[in-house]
Amino acid sequence: MELIRARFATDEETKSFYKFLNSKQNDKNDFTKKWLKTNGSKFIELHQRFYDEFNQSAKDKAWDKHYERWNKWNEDVNYFERRKREIGRCICGRSEGLYQVGSILMIGCSNYREQGYNHTKIYEPVNEPIYQDVDVKLSANYLNDLKIFYELPKELKQSILVDYLLVNNIELLTNVEQKLSVTNGVREKSKKREDLFKSFLEEKFVKLYHQKIIIAKFTDTTKTHFIPDFIGVTDNSIYLIEQKKNAGLINQEQTQRYLLALEYIKKETKSDKDLKLLYLVEEGANDLYNNILNFKNINDYEFN
Ligand SMILES: [Zn+2]
Repeated sequence: MELIRARFATDEETKSFYKFLNSKQNDKNDFTKKWLKTNGSKFIELHQRFYDEFNQSAKDKAWDKHYERWNKWNEDVNYFERRKREIGRCICGRSEGLYQVGSILMIGCSNYREQGYNHTKIYEPVNEPIYQDVDVKLSANYLNDLKIFYELPKELKQSILVDYLLVNNIELLTNVEQKLSVTNGVREKSKKREDLFKSFLEEKFVKLYHQKIIIAKFTDTTKTHFIPDFIGVTDNSIYLIEQKKNAGLINQEQTQRYLLALEYIKKETKSDKDLKLLYLVEEGANDLYNNILNFKNINDYEFN
């Protein structure tokens, strides 16, 4: 990883970058809503048929597989029966015989010990394949399976499909809502945590940047936008602060890129402040070591 250049994004660039990120989400929402306008009743109809047809298709596949295995087995049985009637000579020239091996029969060569020949060795086929019935269990992701099964556009957004079904009084086939609300809950919680950290950090620094975009080019990646959680400036230092739920989530390589980019920007702007790194974690790391600080101890920490 080698840095080619780095700078902070301008306000204009920042605005358009976030707009770009949001637009991707909005495009998906708009597409789904528009699609439902013309295909809504078809979607509901497919949804009502889905379990039976999906399940049936799984059964059909299982039957096909079973049929294939059974055919193969049947062929083996017929072959064995025919060879039993026509016991003759092995490729080595010696006579074949019918032997009992454990509980099954085998057609083999009386001269099987002599090396250099591929002697006759045919076992009686046993264990007739038995069909095992399958029943599909739908997951909380079943709307994705439905999209694939009926070849619906993959851009359709699950949360909007769910809303549409609920608004139309259609019962969901599994607990999708719970899964969606858990996902949203996690997102909300991390946003709250970030706001809390921000308000604490703001008191510690002359200047605090939250998610300031760095535009940087490294030789080994096409990625150009880098967004550290916080950059705090004191009279003597510039702090790169990465916020993590726990120390295990620390991504050293990513942090290394941020540091290199900040070092570059520092040189460009002829700043003589020290560049420091701090990981702020929510869980674990009660003692301060290796730049890892538990958020609980932030008031005892000296930023200088
Ligand atoms: Zn032989």
